[in-house]
Amino acid sequence: MYDIAIIGGGVIGCSIARELSKYKVKTVVIEEEVDVSCGATKANSGIIHGGYDAAYGTKKGYFSHRGNILFDGLEKELNFGFEKIGSLVLAFDNDEIKTLSKIIENGKENGVGDLKIIDREELLQLEPNAGKAIGALYCKGAGIVSPYEYCIALAENAISNGVEFKFNSRVNDINKENNIYTIKTTLEEVESKVVINAAGVNSDTISNMINEKYFHIIPRKGEYLVYAKGYGDKVNHVIFQCPNEKGKGVLVTPTYHNNLMVGPDAQIMDDKYDTSTNIDNLFDIIGKAEKSIPNLENRKIIRSFAGTRATSSLHDFIIEETESKNFINVAGIESPGITSSPAIARYVRELVGNIIDLPENNKFNPHREPNVVKKSKDDMLPMKIVNEYINLGEDDPNRIVCRCEQVRQREILDALDREIKITSTDGIKRRTRAGMGICQGRFCEPRVKKIIAKTYGISEDEITTRGIGSGTEPVRVEIMKLKNN
Ligand SMILES: Cc1cc2nc3c(=O)[nH]c(=O)nc-3n(C[C@H](O)[C@H](O)[C@H](O)COP(=O)(O)OP(=O)(O)OC[C@H]3O[C@@H](n4cnc5c(N)ncnc54)[C@H](O)[C@@H]3O)c2cc1C
Repeated sequence: MYDIAIIGGGVIGCSIARELSKYKVKTVVIEEEVDVSCGATKANSGIIHGGYDAAYGTKKGYFSHRGNILFDGLEKELNFGFEKIGSLVLAFDNDEIKTLSKIIENGKENGVGDLKIIDREELLQLEPNAGKAIGALYCKGAGIVSPYEYCIALAENAISNGVEFKFNSRVNDINKENNIYTIKTTLEEVESKVVINAAGVNSDTISNMINEKYFHIIPRKGEYLVYAKGYGDKVNHVIFQCPNEKGKGVLVTPTYHNNLMVGPDAQIMDDKYDTSTNIDNLFDIIGKAEKSIPNLENRKIIRSFAGTRATSSLHDFIIEETESKNFINVAGIESPGITSSPAIARYVRELVGNIIDLPENNKFNPHREPNVVKKSKDDMLPMKIVNEYINLGEDDPNRIVCRCEQVRQREILDALDREIKITSTDGIKRRTRAGMGICQGRFCEPRVKKIIAKTYGISEDEITTRGIGSGTEPVRVEIMKLKNN
């Protein structure tokens, strides 16, 4: 019997799990995939928003800035990769400058202090490659994060502080008797006093298992393009476009590991699991992105991907105890969910504290060692030397396994020796970056598979690329078409 069962191992479930590991309670996270961070958490813009644009008075407005200010401290404890590079919202005419003033007012109400409008001259000092914008809203406190590394760090730290995770466990039904919930998964039945529903796009289905239907999730897909490592230098900040009657535009941003990323669009979907990308949509995204930063080089594109927002029919985050007592919905957590996650976790801990006692865990250790260490351009070895390292013996910890990202065998072994057993090559990719480079894993994936199998003493057949049924492969043909344009 558990005190608390959390359904969903995305950033919300893992943030709550880590927060609850500060207390002496028996907590379990139930996740249908092979790993954490397989849903929206792995496929988004990775922006720690300033917290100025979500409307004041909404939960999004309340939690986003409160989450943002917790990231410096979290990064020190968990080492997942966060950098406060600041953001710019570009305005292309005077009407948009007026909109920026309104955004600043809203930001102030949300508690965001470091906002100002800059003119074109100052903009060009900050962003020499900017297009024809006449000014911008500058927010120093916004940043970029590696979202899956953040989620993995939370989960690893939660586990090392006593939380249990059950993978490959899809929740199919929930019953309640004598104030105890029985959660039926594909593998077993799990009993718990409190249930927290953090199931992303499925949070409506999970809520409906035990409550009268009171909201539904509208899946909204967003497609992206990723450019080669180093091309992130094209911009210095997260660059948004001013929202206008045509929509929110697209963003251009460096990623934490210095790729360039552009996107997302917004498409309402029937299929929650469809994360395919489409060449016409990608061309459209490039066209919009080039309004902010002209002359993006298609030949630098290495990948497309898509993520699905769990937009709630109530048009805001849903974070509350439900009519079925001791059951907490943390649903409809679309953007800025990554940003808001640490503040949401604290609030959910308060909700749980109203239900059961939360005695402090005196042994709680907030620290977690980094897995992947960011490699700057200067850290990258010349190709001639890389080839020598590739040819080292199979058991040599210094052997380079991933040529593009120059990932060593020892980094992969470190990932395999951690709290979560990894049985997908994508799991290694998200932890070490092996497979994130120009060749997208064609060189290293078979090698990674071999290392996983050998380390765990299992057959290579047991190792999948991304678990069963999660996500779609990017269409390589489309990338080639884009490159050649
Ligand atoms: C295109 C896009 C751009 C975004 N950009 C940003 C951004 O820049 N900044 C920001 O702050 N936020 C951003 N977000 C929002 C952010 O990604 C989400 O708010 C966040 O990842 C939601 O986390 P989650 O844990 O609620 O959901 P998920 O990460 O989807 O996790 C839910 C988990 O529940 C599991 N699950 C589902 N059903 C079941 C079941 N029946 N049984 C067991 N497990 C189940 C899933 O497998 C999944 O792992 C963006 C989102 C998208 C899609």
